[in-house]
Amino acid sequence: MKENQIRGIGMTSERTRGRLIQRLRDMGIKNEQVLATILNTPRHLFVDEALASRAYEDTALPIGQGQTISQPYIVARMTELLLQGEHLQHVLEVGTGCGYQTTILSHLVDKVYTVERLEQLLQQAGRRFHQLRLRNIRTQHSDGGWGWEAHAPYDGIIVTAAPTDIPEPLLQQLAPGARLVIPVGADRQQSLAVITRTPEGFEQVNHEAVTFVPLVRGRA
Ligand code: SAH
Repeated sequence: MKENQIRGIGMTSERTRGRLIQRLRDMGIKNEQVLATILNTPRHLFVDEALASRAYEDTALPIGQGQTISQPYIVARMTELLLQGEHLQHVLEVGTGCGYQTTILSHLVDKVYTVERLEQLLQQAGRRFHQLRLRNIRTQHSDGGWGWEAHAPYDGIIVTAAPTDIPEPLLQQLAPGARLVIPVGADRQQSLAVITRTPEGFEQVNHEAVTFVPLVRGRA
């Protein structure tokens, strides 16, 4: 990734990016900070060069190893649900993938801890963070179903792969009042859940149906 790649393609696709933002607005995304961050983030740098021309379409794209870069609408929606207009300090992300969602978060919260089970993807993502000079991201190669105990509790947790049941460690690593945004359910029948840690326990609200790759145990 060279400097002219970061700037060059980014500049020429300004109009295309503007169209994407309009679509996200039309679909109901309201958080202006989230919209501005997506507008200013070069999504083409997170996909293979052969797919770069499609990077500003509102669609998931393959990133290798059977994984995908999430659809921009889903990234925007999950980020909006996570923030709910608040300022968050420490956020845990499970499922770094190409690092696009991580990058969006890094502009909106103080510090992002991100965990990925596939070493190769994590290394690639790490190079992107370095090249984009994002200094508030820490990565770990592990099974994110265990969370990342060392830095807990978190002001928010976002999971970008779907378990059939919510992993208990993630609930335990939420600070009081913090939210966990997570797709839950079996193949093709997942819903986007937001779980809030309350003084009494946990409160769950299910939002729209979504399709994510499964949360898989162990690392590779
Ligand atoms: N956040 C990405 C999308 C990631 S796709 C984006 O911005 O586009 C889901 C990712 O979760 C994949 O890279 C997959 O390898 C990873 N994953 C699946 N199970 C996991 C687990 N138990 N722990 C950590 N990462 C996991």
